[in-house]
Amino acid sequence: MKYALVTGGSRGIGRAICLKLAEQQYNILINYRSNDDEARKTADLVQEHNVTATLLKFDVSNKEEVDSVLGAWVDAHKEDVIEVLINNAGIREDALMVFMTDDQWRRVLGASLDAFYYVSRAVMNPMLANRYGRIVTVVSLSGIKGMPGQTNYSAAKAGVIGATKALAQEVARRGITVNAVAPGFVRTDMTQDLNEAELKAIIPMKRFGEPEEVADAVAFLASKKASYITGAVLSINGGLYT
Ligand code: NAP
Repeated sequence: MKYALVTGGSRGIGRAICLKLAEQQYNILINYRSNDDEARKTADLVQEHNVTATLLKFDVSNKEEVDSVLGAWVDAHKEDVIEVLINNAGIREDALMVFMTDDQWRRVLGASLDAFYYVSRAVMNPMLANRYGRIVTVVSLSGIKGMPGQTNYSAAKAGVIGATKALAQEVARRGITVNAVAPGFVRTDMTQDLNEAELKAIIPMKRFGEPEEVADAVAFLASKKASYITGAVLSINGGLYT
């Protein structure tokens, strides 16, 4: 059986990615941290595509949880392969750096940067053995240009971009590609507190993006068609680069 693991698959961009990959006939492993109801809703929608949906609840920033839940799944499914990993889970906790707490710094780095390391490593050996794999990580415009009020988030996403480029070169010979997508503003729970009316004025397309518009690009990078693309960061931002 062929599986795709989507971290943060219970809501927002992650849910849209789960559905696109289900359309491509992947069985979906839906990771999330706490929101059981929303995760079950994603699972129901995934199953409408006649593939299986498995909920894997663990905190991607917690090494012990990644190892005990994801590691246990991998160990128990020796015949099955996770061909596709989408590192999508992430949080923002904005504050000017002078007011930032150590916990705000660590939580945001943990959910994106530590998670890239823990989760990608957990699925790497079977991918190497299989000589095929697709890893796509959701980073952010903030990690490319830097956003005031987001030193933690910009650092986390920029760190993942560096790790993506490095890992891409490590595993290229084994048929594994490692890429990232960098959304601008996308309409999800994460951006609910932002003033959309004001912010869309600075976006050349004059609107926020939809989760499905990110998911389509992720699904392409996760497909066999993207076989010669690795170490790339694809911006999905309605033209907002600066
Ligand atoms: P969202 O609606 O807030 O959803 C976040 C998802 O991540 C949820 O499924 C959540 O699970 C999960 N999650 C958070 N922390 C986790 C952890 N420690 N362990 C496991 N799961 C965790 O966010 P979104 O807007 O869809 O964002 C998805 C990704 O896109 C993030 O990496 C974000 O940084 C990036 N991004 C978003 C935007 C945007 O404008 N929305 C722009 C650029 C980049 P629960 O439901 O259990 O809480």
